[in-house]
Amino acid sequence: MKSLEAFARKRDYLVCVDSDGCAMDTMDIKHIRCFGPCMVKEWKLEAWEGQILDRWNEINLYSMTRGINRFLALAMALEEINESLTPVEGVEELSAWVKEADELSNGSVQRKAEESGLEIFRKALAWSKAVNQSISELPEETKKPFEGVAEGLKAAHESADVAIVSSANLEAVVEEWQKHGLMDSVDVCLTQNVGSKAYCIGKMLEYGFAADHVLMIGDAPGDLSAAQKNGVLYYPILVKHEKESWETFVKEALPRFLQGTYKGDYQEQQIQAFRSNLS
Ligand SMILES: [Mg+2]
Repeated sequence: MKSLEAFARKRDYLVCVDSDGCAMDTMDIKHIRCFGPCMVKEWKLEAWEGQILDRWNEINLYSMTRGINRFLALAMALEEINESLTPVEGVEELSAWVKEADELSNGSVQRKAEESGLEIFRKALAWSKAVNQSISELPEETKKPFEGVAEGLKAAHESADVAIVSSANLEAVVEEWQKHGLMDSVDVCLTQNVGSKAYCIGKMLEYGFAADHVLMIGDAPGDLSAAQKNGVLYYPILVKHEKESWETFVKEALPRFLQGTYKGDYQEQQIQAFRSNLS
């Protein structure tokens, strides 16, 4: 399983890579086919389906809120629907809960549903479970890496240790990466069972990598902030330009990282391009 406990540092450099939406082309399909449609169905919003699905995808894929927790996204979408399309009963309670809850998960929404007796939390749980079910039914062939990922990881692995840093489920990540032959370029796999992405990068730094010898590759603002919290470098994979981003990684970003010229102007340009691509 390439666990943290079994990891031994072999190189002076470390490349951390996120999975969903960065290496694996799984994010669009999950939102377009599962998250949005399940919300329309649970709240019976079929009359406004087109515009609601467009807005869901905007929130979760194409703007600075890309990659946010599903319950935060749900509250945001339902608030907008309540304001501009049709009343959503209990939306104020849901919005208050997502702001104050310590944990946003099926378990915590279930406890909130039981404790409050409110329909909105029961529906949020039903929606979340329907989403999981619908994701598990996606055809296997839809879960594939972006073009250029195998080459990018291979190039990184020639000079750096490579870590998966993902907030997805361990088994799902290992299965997807193994199936596509990507695990050969990976030394350690850190997923949701270990902790947040920021925590995972912090654990890797304990192996003695210098902060400017660590590069996080990600596709969402949460990846950037996980890198910044640890003072390590960040390279973005741009949504809708993933293949080009991986090619640029091999041609420019990786050589600069290894030569010590990534930090500074070059990194700032990459982060600027990342931000404008999401606004
Ligand atoms: Mg991602």
